[in-house]
Amino acid sequence: MSNRARVTVVVSQGQSHHPEKRKLEEEIVAGLLGDRAVGVTVIPHLYDLTADGTGMLSLQQETGDLIVCSWLFPRAAHWTLDRNGVHGQFGKSLLDAWDEDEEEADAGDEKPRVLETRQLPRRRIYHLDLRAGHPTGDYLDEIRRIAAETSTPVVTLTGLAPTNAPADEESLVRPGGPLQLGEPVEPASGPRHIDEPAARRWYPVIDYSRCTNCMECIDFCLFGVYGVDGQETILVEDPDNCRKGCPACSRVCPENAILFPQHKTPTIAGSPEVAGALKVDLSRLFGAPEPGAPGTEDAAAMAARERDEQLQLAGRAPVGEKTSERSTPKPAPQDELDELIDALDELDL
Ligand code: SF4
Ligand code: SF4
Repeated sequence: MSNRARVTVVVSQGQSHHPEKRKLEEEIVAGLLGDRAVGVTVIPHLYDLTADGTGMLSLQQETGDLIVCSWLFPRAAHWTLDRNGVHGQFGKSLLDAWDEDEEEADAGDEKPRVLETRQLPRRRIYHLDLRAGHPTGDYLDEIRRIAAETSTPVVTLTGLAPTNAPADEESLVRPGGPLQLGEPVEPASGPRHIDEPAARRWYPVIDYSRCTNCMECIDFCLFGVYGVDGQETILVEDPDNCRKGCPACSRVCPENAILFPQHKTPTIAGSPEVAGALKVDLSRLFGAPEPGAPGTEDAAAMAARERDEQLQLAGRAPVGEKTSERSTPKPAPQDELDELIDALDELDL
């Protein structure tokens, strides 16, 4: 007898309790009720959860494919989960536009990335960005499409407990073929709500698919946020030491690998499109003056200024642009663009 394991859909709630946000979240949960191909878990905003809290602990125990619906860029959601012990391969959603040219260019980059040194489970974690503004039906269709592609057969022998499919590569080709709608799977169950108290947080998240372990960030930050693990790999060791609103180290990372998922500037929050556009210097496209022109501030200076502001707020002496000699400035985001995004943010109270 063949049966199928459910795919877990995680709905990460918005922070603001905005009625439109809650409506979309509830419609997705309601739309999946009774669908035996998926199990639904509702958690508070995943960026606010801690690795040892109920929400992350429950996700850490999920070993199958995940479909994560969150109010974050997919890249930001993925690496936020990763830093909290929820690991897997990045699964692409067809709802997002992927820049194949940029991916090919990245693939040809000779720099070794931290991700290449890590052993990740084969299961996939797909991310649906709820901010993208798709109709509810599109999200539901995409969840069902992914569930049909990914749900792994479970072989049950009479008299024995169900056993998950073997972990060799072939088994991941789904020998039972794609799940058909209406095909018997595990019994349907209602959504699981995890009501963990979650205060708003602010900390950097490292995208290890880009990070080269250059240590610019640990040299730059003077608040003890970064550290290294037993293999001398950079990590965010004390996230809550980060100063709220400070994105300074993201500006000095040469690989655009440091994300602040809640930052108003898409580049810093994890937008793949904008990160790619920076390669052709987005700031110039928006009419920014050339770096070094009178009255302008480049990214390194902006980062140093932001760091000084935080040092002074903490009652410490500013240090100016003193930082690692290895720092490579990045293009500065544009104030006008920030203001426009601020104005849009304010509409979402
Ligand atoms: S500065 Fe960026 S690339 Fe370098 S170690 Fe930090 S996160 Fe990684
Ligand atoms: S944003 Fe500022 S305080 Fe936070 S980790 Fe970066 S440099 Fe340190």
